[in-house]
Amino acid sequence: MTDRTLNIDTVSKAGQEVTVAGWIANRRDHGKLIFLDLRDHTGLLQVVVNPKVSADAHSTAEKLRSEFVVVIKGKVNDRPANMVKAELSTGTVELEATEINILSEAQTPPFELDETKDVNEETRLKYRYLDLRSPRMQNNLRIKHKTTSLVREYLDKKGFIEIETPLLTKTSPEGARDFLVPSRYNPGKFYALPQSPQQYKQLLMLAGFDRYYQMARCLRDEDTRRDRVLEHTQIDMEMSFVTEEEVRAIVEGMMIYVVESLGKKVLQKPFPVYTHEQAVQEFGADKFDLRTEKNPEVFAFAWVVDFPLFDYDQEEKKYTFAHNPFSAPKAEDVDKLLKGEDLGDLRAQQYDLVCNGLELGSGGVRISDPQVQRKVFEIMGLSPEQTEERFGHLIKAYEYGAPPHAGIAPGLDRLVMLLTNEEDIREVIAFPTTASGQTAVMDAPSPATEQQLKELHLKIDKPEIRNPKSETKSNT
Ligand code: ASP
Repeated sequence: MTDRTLNIDTVSKAGQEVTVAGWIANRRDHGKLIFLDLRDHTGLLQVVVNPKVSADAHSTAEKLRSEFVVVIKGKVNDRPANMVKAELSTGTVELEATEINILSEAQTPPFELDETKDVNEETRLKYRYLDLRSPRMQNNLRIKHKTTSLVREYLDKKGFIEIETPLLTKTSPEGARDFLVPSRYNPGKFYALPQSPQQYKQLLMLAGFDRYYQMARCLRDEDTRRDRVLEHTQIDMEMSFVTEEEVRAIVEGMMIYVVESLGKKVLQKPFPVYTHEQAVQEFGADKFDLRTEKNPEVFAFAWVVDFPLFDYDQEEKKYTFAHNPFSAPKAEDVDKLLKGEDLGDLRAQQYDLVCNGLELGSGGVRISDPQVQRKVFEIMGLSPEQTEERFGHLIKAYEYGAPPHAGIAPGLDRLVMLLTNEEDIREVIAFPTTASGQTAVMDAPSPATEQQLKELHLKIDKPEIRNPKSETKSNT
């Protein structure tokens, strides 16, 4: 539509003829006059339909209902100063319609679209495309876009390049279950969807790219929470020839740039740094909120450093990685690690970024010595054969000249949650899954056809659905 004017641009076009397009948000009949609120992505515009101006437009307007899509021609008029609608960004003007064309009719939406927060989650996600028409959701996704643009701008200036890494890959442990994808060409074999691009970004450092980033999708089959979903996006970063402090300085600059560009305040600069031990002593946890008043406009960032290298798994009775198996021990702890001494006391060159009570991201200096890497896998209980089978590719790569490197991956969705003052991560994701893992709008997961299963050489062996009632009976 070459002659289309956006609602917001009518403000500077008083006296002119324009064509606007969008959705009917509201229709009010006042005697002969009909008032419409027309919504486009820039806001609402009041349209007046007067039968004396156009009898045709008026009879079309009588048929309009909420969410009809229309094109309206008319003249922009200034509203008298005492009638300016302060609540509308276009409140100083209104459009006097001369022609209305209906492009698409609409059924009555299942819920009101001006504020959808209280609508039940299942309904909201089933009709997510309607939910997303609400001003709050529009704003949330626009702030998310703005955030990624600012991040890209900042990292580009700092010499980072964005590189994509595969989604069909091999497991890379980040402490969650993998999502698996069966391979048609390789019966009985599976790809894993990445829990993070961790190994690829390390390989990119070995490949000589020096500074990498990616808005990376991470898929983790784990229980969802208000700040955790099955797939989330990380600002995944890795740098060569740097220390822990240099990585933190870059991330700090990036966070300040993003937050301040969006008009918010950073509480303390530089960000305060706590050792893991101090954080646990002072706050009883490794994430905390340093704000005295819970003002959402203020961002209280802090670093937590010196995490333990290993956690002891009480059930399995063995040590496992605390962050991921690629975190380097502190230089002074390497000897002990190689000797297998005091494993519970070893510290890692690992750091977390926290903000307003959320963990925004974790990162670390990576192991770049294959001997140390093998030892970590051994401590985790992998036999040399298992290590070879699962991580041989990575260890081998480190035998061809490996620069020291380190990185981090701040969670984009969590950052945007804070920037939009939302309590639930689903409020900043266009099409999230429900708490029980159902996708928005498209009803997945759903069964595969017989043909698909056959091609993939798969047979389904579903668990018996237990009947809770009969179980109670047999117990009594
Ligand atoms: N891959 C890590 C994570 O997903 C981040 C990192 O260490 O860079 O938490």
